Amino acid sequence: MSIRSVFIKNLGIGGGNPVRVESMLKTSLDDLEGCLSEVRNLAAAGCELIRVAFPEASKAKALEKLAFQAEIPLMADIHFNPDLALLSLKAGVPAIRINPGNMGSPVRLAEILSLAADRGAVVRIGANGGSLSGPQLAETGGDRALALVRAVETQLDYLLRNHFDNIILSAKSTSIPETVRANSLLAERYPYPLHIGITEAGPDLRGIVKNAAGIGILLNQGIGDTIRVSLTAPSVKEVETGFSILNALEIRRKGFDLISCPTCGRRRIDVQALVQSLLPSLSGLPDGFSVAVMGCEVNGPREAAHADFGISGSPNGFILFSHGKPIATAGADNLEEVLTSVLKALCPSQNGRS
Ligand code: SF4
Repeated sequence: MSIRSVFIKNLGIGGGNPVRVESMLKTSLDDLEGCLSEVRNLAAAGCELIRVAFPEASKAKALEKLAFQAEIPLMADIHFNPDLALLSLKAGVPAIRINPGNMGSPVRLAEILSLAADRGAVVRIGANGGSLSGPQLAETGGDRALALVRAVETQLDYLLRNHFDNIILSAKSTSIPETVRANSLLAERYPYPLHIGITEAGPDLRGIVKNAAGIGILLNQGIGDTIRVSLTAPSVKEVETGFSILNALEIRRKGFDLISCPTCGRRRIDVQALVQSLLPSLSGLPDGFSVAVMGCEVNGPREAAHADFGISGSPNGFILFSHGKPIATAGADNLEEVLTSVLKALCPSQNGRS
């Protein structure tokens, strides 16, 4: 994790703060009510920072209202137009994402950075594999990871020359090896927080795997302070996937942890169906509470001996166990009832069960 930290409102990023999970609004600022509803859904899912595209000055009023009403901090995403950067800061947005190299002129950039400094705003800069130019690639002999790093360094230089260092860096591409190498180099060279992700990762399983592999490799090396999962899917899915990655790497805990066996010829129950039927009643369990659903009594309780609570098939129905020790048995007819009382005893604070 980075040596230095920044604060976007009260949200600490880098420097020992938890790895943050962010997303980007898919709703246009033309639909303010839609934006507010998406922000609420994202906040409920645990999202901590939301990027919002700000492409035209005509949307400044909507941005201002959104920044005022959003329960989590926003970062305005701006391309090419220095006026938009100034407008978003004046609208009360606590962070902006810009490319300092395309903010018009050094004078305009200095104006933006001066206002950002006055407002305590954070500036994220960074390079994207899709926007690397021919000359940038030629300079590194076609080495795309190095070209990404050079592009970030050029932008960083603009900011440091203006004595501005309240910054987050990012280098992203659709290629995992390229993104991993670029971020490894940046983490080695600079103390600033890193925003990490794999761009345009796609939909469904492909997208989730690509994000998990790329972000996972980096986080497991201690690189990355805030993550954005990019999915062709509703933004809440990005946040859920982000927390799943952090849970899987045991970096942060959000929600319960589910362990379930793949099943084999020894299975006594339909594990897939049981998992699906259990999910709604497990949603109120505390962060990090582990639940195992195992197909048989032969291996189930032993293989899931670390689980806070487990259920496995048995010749007569189900065995419920905790940390490998049986605590109750149930049949198909009274499973719900037994489950309720066992979970209540194990976890008195669980919501939604009486
Ligand atoms: S827990 Fe039982 S059913 Fe599940 S994979 Fe292991 S041996 Fe097979």
